Amino acid sequence: MKQISYILRVKKLGTEDSTAWDEPMNEYVENGVTVEEHGKSIIDYFNSTLRPHETARVFVAAIETEKSTKNLKHDWVKVSLVTERGGFDKYKCTMCNATGKRHGLSSGVDIDKKYEKYRFNCPNKKLN
Ligand SMILES: [Zn+2]
Repeated sequence: MKQISYILRVKKLGTEDSTAWDEPMNEYVENGVTVEEHGKSIIDYFNSTLRPHETARVFVAAIETEKSTKNLKHDWVKVSLVTERGGFDKYKCTMCNATGKRHGLSSGVDIDKKYEKYRFNCPNKKLN
């Protein structure tokens, strides 16, 4: 897993690029996934779950933004052998032992309540 931060530029189907808007993205993804691939998968997912009143969206660009170096990020590894009942996988940080859950394919790891204060910052020492 690695963290990617980027701006996803998106527009509605059949409109000019000048009408595009930006969505800031900050996600944990498998190693090797590019921001462009991730952005396109988000749009594909959105379009596959369209409601009747919604218009399909079109990927315009994925612009990588500078990662925050202030906070040390958790190094999540998957600990579930199979997807848990409820459709999530369990993750654990190799540096601090914090645990979290990841739902679906494109969302990030949601840290467990017990470790809430370390949500954005890995203490880089073993927690109990
Ligand atoms: Zn950690």
